[in-house]
Amino acid sequence: MKDENFLKENNARHMWHPMAHPADSLENPPDIITEAEGVQIVDIDGHRTVDAVGGLWNVNLGYSCAPVKAAIAAQLDRLPYYSTFRGTSNDAVIELSYMLREFFAPDGLSRAFFTSGGSDSVEVSLRLARQYHKIRGEPGRVKFLSLKKGYHGTHTLGASVNGNANFRTQYEPLMAGCHHIPAPYPYRNPFNETDPARLAQLCLAALEDEIRFQGAETIAAFIMEPVLGAGGVITPHESFMPGVREICDRHGILLIADEVITAFGRTGSWSGSRHWGVKPDLMCTAKAITNGYFPFGAVMVAEAVTEVFEQDRSGKGFIGSGYTYSGHPVGAAAAIACLKETGRLQVKDNAAARGAQLFKGLQALAAKYDVIGDLRGGHGLMCALELVSDPAAKTPIDMETIGRVQRAAYEAGAMVRVSGPNIILSPPLVLTATDVQTILSALDAGLAAAAG
Ligand code: PMP
Repeated sequence: MKDENFLKENNARHMWHPMAHPADSLENPPDIITEAEGVQIVDIDGHRTVDAVGGLWNVNLGYSCAPVKAAIAAQLDRLPYYSTFRGTSNDAVIELSYMLREFFAPDGLSRAFFTSGGSDSVEVSLRLARQYHKIRGEPGRVKFLSLKKGYHGTHTLGASVNGNANFRTQYEPLMAGCHHIPAPYPYRNPFNETDPARLAQLCLAALEDEIRFQGAETIAAFIMEPVLGAGGVITPHESFMPGVREICDRHGILLIADEVITAFGRTGSWSGSRHWGVKPDLMCTAKAITNGYFPFGAVMVAEAVTEVFEQDRSGKGFIGSGYTYSGHPVGAAAAIACLKETGRLQVKDNAAARGAQLFKGLQALAAKYDVIGDLRGGHGLMCALELVSDPAAKTPIDMETIGRVQRAAYEAGAMVRVSGPNIILSPPLVLTATDVQTILSALDAGLAAAAG
């Protein structure tokens, strides 16, 4: 490894950071992470913290998963790469497809299409949705509906269904035919409705209204995250996603669950859709499928959609989507090992138990600090604190103050993430009760710094 001065000096000079202003990394140099162990990360100064972000909501199993590392090394030795485009396959990806079929059987998903990450999975799912309708003789179904505040990656279709201006405005014009409805976000919504159940009904009515306005026969799919992650852990009322499912069914619209964050246990269930008792038509996965050990993703396809493609004899079912790294054998080997560990450790149960402990602790912090305008989460290990400078007016906190909270929490032992006015928590699902305590006391220190 190059020495500390070299790394610090050259970081901003030669690299642009994703989701950052290039000038910012010059003024606020990032923490250079050099090691990780269990659920902890270590920076270049030797400072060790609990990673309460879990990488980027993806490192569910922590950083020391020996079977995953061994599987990757063995696969690299035996077959480091081969394509899965028409005509060739590899044993790892076949075994993985079989395992995913088993894992997602309760969600009614029967086929996997492999990608290199979440944005790819979103892109492919939207393309497959349009194609599905074309095969079935409804080529006019090309539009997409989604939620404001939703996040669906940064490829062009995904950015077009994204519901946050930060990821859209500078890249417009985006795809035509993408329309957004209000998110079921009780703290801020156009209806001024604070009751989650009533708000869910209002948002469903808005969806129904938009479908009527656009014409159901023009809409291919509705895409949503079962719990909106990057938008600030906006957790819909339990009636919302089943309501969306019912409306989509009534209008012949496909439901795409973007489970890039929620699949594989984060909500305390094996998928976010299952958490709400819903079977989607397509499901986007990535992140915890390989836990950060390899870039990888999969779109899972429901039985009814599978049949339409597989029974097509017109040629319209030809899948003209694919990546060089679709079904990468090393990624597949990593995913197989991750799935085995995920099942063996039953991480969803720990996510539910530790999630309840974390949420209870956060409720105590919310009672203690006025700066916490809204606390969201309560379903597994994804939580957000929305910070405000004036609780009555719900004025979003300034970036400098929330930065101070993050810094002080880091100094006190926990890496937390700042996203707009939100502090986001999505720690590895294997953390212990003591780790949760560390996160809570570090946050307490962080919030005290903001107050002081
Ligand atoms: N969809 C959702 C719900 C996500 O949270 C993300 C990433 N945070 C993506 C898509 C994009 O995934 P990736 O960054 O792997 O491209």
